[in-house]
Amino acid sequence: KVTVSIITIGDELLIGQTIDTNSAWMAQQLNAMGIWVHRRVAIGDVKEAILDALDKEGAVSDIVLITGGLGPTADDITKPTLCEYFGGTLVRDEITYQQVMAFFESRGLPALKRNEDQALVPDVATVLHNTRGTAPGMWFEKDGKVYVSMPGVPLEMKGLMTDHVLPRLQEYFRLPAVVHQTLLTSGMGESFVAERLVHFEAALPPHIKLAYLPSHGLLKLRLTASGSDKISTAAALSIYFHQLKEILADITVYDEDLTMGEVLGRTLHAKGRTVGTAESCTGGYIAHSITLVPGSSAWYKGGIVSYANEIKSALLDVKPNTLQANGAVSEAVVREMARGALEQLQTDYIIAVSGIMGPDGGTPEKPVGTVWIAVGSAKELVTMKYQLRFDRLTNIQMTTTYAMNELRKL
Ligand code: ATP
Ligand code: MG
Repeated sequence: KVTVSIITIGDELLIGQTIDTNSAWMAQQLNAMGIWVHRRVAIGDVKEAILDALDKEGAVSDIVLITGGLGPTADDITKPTLCEYFGGTLVRDEITYQQVMAFFESRGLPALKRNEDQALVPDVATVLHNTRGTAPGMWFEKDGKVYVSMPGVPLEMKGLMTDHVLPRLQEYFRLPAVVHQTLLTSGMGESFVAERLVHFEAALPPHIKLAYLPSHGLLKLRLTASGSDKISTAAALSIYFHQLKEILADITVYDEDLTMGEVLGRTLHAKGRTVGTAESCTGGYIAHSITLVPGSSAWYKGGIVSYANEIKSALLDVKPNTLQANGAVSEAVVREMARGALEQLQTDYIIAVSGIMGPDGGTPEKPVGTVWIAVGSAKELVTMKYQLRFDRLTNIQMTTTYAMNELRKL
């Protein structure tokens, strides 16, 4: 199998000031292509550390991918170090040079010498043009192995990976075509799903793999197939994916790898309906999840974060008596929140939630993790109670997923 090492460079990564998200994202992409991620290494902006990492990773992996340290400041020493390692001289890349000049001209700023130097690349490298920034990627080959250096800025790295690096690796190593299909499910634990899929899994041919990927109230089931070409591999996979969908029809949320916000958005968009939110315990997380989706203004009108009881009463007309008699985390209160919000927001649908997210605030009758959800329309409002058992953030995320999924079901 083809193996890769990922080296992330930057003092800020070492001291934990920046969290290294680059190598996680790259590893996911490479793994999805069937490339074996052998090692991930973080090092500082130190010449000896870079040379040492190139030696060590080049010795054990077929591919070495590097991000960071290509910027115009003195601490960015990756490029001269690579030049030394691969034995080239720095020459100007004309396309990159024009790009750098255009970039500064469009901002009405002079390009400094150090900016112009962004266009210098080792003559032994293939330049991978960066359309999202000024530092180009560089592709080196040595003893049948590939080394690629990319800027540290996540958006630029992702662009270079998608546009250049992944397709080139596919070709260079003649990798088999890899195809995925993902089924989103909710409402049944991993172990129970696995139990139901015993025969299905046993009958899978060796070139098709099933992965269980739980995430905040959703369980993703990802089928991966590899084969000689994309079309026939996808065709072979779709037969099994179809079977999987049939077996899990009752818990299926969607048959594509989407976020819950995207799923709800597609559902509402297809119906031509709008939704509003009345959130207590999630504090706007549901609104946030809905509005992360481009185009959400077509189906989302707005929401009210009614965290305190007096706000529930003042803005959503929740009766003080109802609060008094049932407590804020109750079926009666989410019902009134939903009714009040439908009135205020004039949407077709509403999502209302109230719960205790923890770590404190539980009682024997209402332990931490108790959540009431109301979803529906003026005509039909349904309520349900969940008992969650996680930390505060996870409880909020799961409430968000469950509430959106309940509305999707209507
Ligand atoms: P540029 O040419 O834009 O300066 P660069 O190659 O010099 O890019 P850095 O200066 O190391 O990259 O980092 C640029 C930005 O990207 C910084 O904000 C840094 O925190 C962030 N960054 C760098 N490496 C990573 C990483 N591994 N994961 C997430 N963010 C990163
Ligand atoms: Mg840096």
